[in-house]
Amino acid sequence: MIHNHHDFPERIANMVLVVEDSRALRGLLCASLLDEYGLTAVEADSLTQAQQHLRDDATRFFAAVLDLNLPDAPDGEIVDLVQSYNIPVVVLTGSIDDALREMILGKQVVDYFIKHDYNDIAQAAHTLGRLWQNSRITVMVVDDSRSFRDYLENLLKSYRYQTLAACSGREALDLLAAHPHISLIITDVNMPEMNGLELIKTIRKRYRREDLAIIGMSEVSQPNLSARLLKTGANDFIAKPFQAEEFFCRVTQNTNMMDYVRRLREAATRDVLTGLSNRRHALEMAEKLYANARRGHLQIALGMIDVDHFKRVNDTFGHLLGDDALKVIANALSASLRQSDIIGRYGGEEFVCLLVLKQEDDATCVFERSRRAVANIGFSAHGQSLPLTVSIGFTTVLENSLLQMIARADAAVYQAKSKGRNQVVCR
Ligand code: GH3
Ligand code: MG
Ligand code: MG
Repeated sequence: MIHNHHDFPERIANMVLVVEDSRALRGLLCASLLDEYGLTAVEADSLTQAQQHLRDDATRFFAAVLDLNLPDAPDGEIVDLVQSYNIPVVVLTGSIDDALREMILGKQVVDYFIKHDYNDIAQAAHTLGRLWQNSRITVMVVDDSRSFRDYLENLLKSYRYQTLAACSGREALDLLAAHPHISLIITDVNMPEMNGLELIKTIRKRYRREDLAIIGMSEVSQPNLSARLLKTGANDFIAKPFQAEEFFCRVTQNTNMMDYVRRLREAATRDVLTGLSNRRHALEMAEKLYANARRGHLQIALGMIDVDHFKRVNDTFGHLLGDDALKVIANALSASLRQSDIIGRYGGEEFVCLLVLKQEDDATCVFERSRRAVANIGFSAHGQSLPLTVSIGFTTVLENSLLQMIARADAAVYQAKSKGRNQVVCR
């Protein structure tokens, strides 16, 4: 039997150990962890109490936030204790001088924050959120020096990133082909076979900066190299030798940037309420399939779906539960379709749907399945239940534009409504 630690964890370590003697700060941090990042904290106000939590079960913690100055451990002893359980540590401290900073970084903590105000606590919580997300991010290290590769991989692992390593540009391209979900590449420049600049140039033919970030590592002795790296397509560069702290700042900045872009894209393409594609995005995708259908490459059906008597749902349950009903309907519709089909929220309680038809496939069959999926929902609240049904109109006539297909399907919806609703009509 193969044990896949990542897919079948014994127990998901999804909690944060928070050790801080100020009750106010602890409360603020825990609330922020839960509200902003969905992370549950286990609290302790002393080393003794933390020790108890760790003895009870240390495997539940994926990270810890530790105050260096505790009543029963005034000099950061808590850090050693928590690290002995192999738990990544974020440090909170009241003040910092050079000696303390050296001491903290010498202990290989993830990061440290000086408790000035609310903003510092929010930053610490953000780092924990980041750390939690990191296990879903794959970073590839490319360097011909084995020992340096190992060093970087270990640094990244201490931040919970998934890592891959390649010893040349050529090997990096092979690994990238096998693992297209890599989000960040950190590459040396001087390597045999294919150097870092060639590697970056090749990657940029296929991946944009916001989809795959690259950090180039250059020797300080080659002063013009950093500019060349950036011009060739690197997002960032870092001069060797570097401190772990700077390394992590650069890595984090780049993964944050990709997160923002991903969230902006999500916001631009998703309907917030239902999670389906929004109207614009669904129509954009549908236009592409429509063009292919016009060229005779595939057969499509365009359907419009309108919820029956939805005003009654709102009137009976109120608008908020009406929203819930819409979500449930959207889920049922989406589950009744196949991967290759497109569904989006057209507006209000209407959905647009484009099916890619397989040879013997019958659009009526698929839309009947969708209709039944909604009719079987059984929605109830406050002891009241209301049937949820949809009327579906569709067409396979290509017409002269996608919009004309939509108009034709819409006319079919009205026929379905006048024939008594909860049915599928083809025109
Ligand atoms: P019909 O069977 O003829 O389609 O009846 P209907 O009541 O569904 O038709 P109508 O188009 O008159 O009303 C649609 C209602 O859907 C009106 C509107 O308040 C409600 N609605 C539209 N969008 C939303 C939404 O996002 N949330 C909620 N709760 N209601 C919505
Ligand atoms: Mg309507
Ligand atoms: Mg309606």
